[in-house]
Amino acid sequence: MSAASKHTLYDVPVSNNGARVRIILYKKGIPENEVKIVSPFESSLGGLKSPEYLALNPQGKMPLLTTSSASADGISAIPESDTIARYLLSEYEGLGPSFLPNNVKSNLIARLHDMYLTTVQGCMYKATPPFGPFQTRKDALLEYCKQLRVIDDLLDSSSASTYLCGDEVSLADATLFPSLVFANYMLPMFVISSNKEEQDTLCVPTKLNTWYQNIIKNDDVFSRVHNEITKALDSWNDNKRWDKILHAGLRDNAPTTIFDKILNGDIPATIVKDHPKYLAFRDINPAAPNHILIIPKDRALLTHLHYATSDHVEILGTLLQAAGEIVNDPELGYGGTGRIVINDGGSAGQEVFHLHLHVLGGRSFSWPPG
Ligand code: 5GP
Repeated sequence: MSAASKHTLYDVPVSNNGARVRIILYKKGIPENEVKIVSPFESSLGGLKSPEYLALNPQGKMPLLTTSSASADGISAIPESDTIARYLLSEYEGLGPSFLPNNVKSNLIARLHDMYLTTVQGCMYKATPPFGPFQTRKDALLEYCKQLRVIDDLLDSSSASTYLCGDEVSLADATLFPSLVFANYMLPMFVISSNKEEQDTLCVPTKLNTWYQNIIKNDDVFSRVHNEITKALDSWNDNKRWDKILHAGLRDNAPTTIFDKILNGDIPATIVKDHPKYLAFRDINPAAPNHILIIPKDRALLTHLHYATSDHVEILGTLLQAAGEIVNDPELGYGGTGRIVINDGGSAGQEVFHLHLHVLGGRSFSWPPG
């Protein structure tokens, strides 16, 4: 049996934030008797949600670094990747590359990554929202790609260097690289149309992509970590994970309807409200003096209400709120009372397979409905 190691890193290959720590370990050549990598699922701690693990890492996430002797501050468990990375850079300062811990550009890229990219990137692989502050996958994806462009703007277009901050590897390279493995693997799945604007938006920007390709080609450690993460992600593929992710494997392939023509302006409608997320217009064949339809602009599986998933919670709430506003709008004549109807499926009378709320008013309604 090998002697106990000075530190234990609880981590698995697919862990995005743990991968930056592994890059540091591999590049510095820190041996196993100094830092041993252990899967929390195969350790005596018993997995991320066990009371023993949560006592050391209250967020229940990876990575976690434990030390056999507490630091001067009395800390013997570090449950956060940037802090682990900086601890190791300081602890093993004399070994291998420094990772430029005081380089402003490197620190800025690492901070931007941790604050604005990591916080939303679950939109590419998590089954359910929220994705950071975003309730919808599309909004989170657009934000993720915007933040990639913010980082891309910091890069030097004329640089032929393998690394982000000059000729030496930096903390920024270690921090950003694993996320780029995720982005390159997953973003293309979300490009569902041949629309050039969508293709140009949902992608890794050019300078970042050049850096990513070069660092894999020129640096064995980055190539090794790329393979570790990709292999783990391939197993997600085998488990059919993407089939449950809206816009990736789970797509709306139903035929378009007359409402798409209204949305595109191909046929006219009396539009009452044009909101970024929905359109409200008068029904062509009104069933009451006031009859307005509200439809989501992005149908995204909602041919029927009963196809709604947790990805749709925000739009469903928005549509109901819009119905309330219409009933309450003095200019629309409902006088603060209305009947809100969703016909869900053929026997309920649904004829157009694009979710819509009927907002009826201007007369009294009987119950039960016919
Ligand atoms: P459903 O029966 O599917 O619940 O309701 C579909 C509604 O869409 C009907 O009330 C119908 O009158 C309305 N509708 C169908 N085609 C058009 C159209 O081309 N323009 C407008 N404004 N309403 C339409």
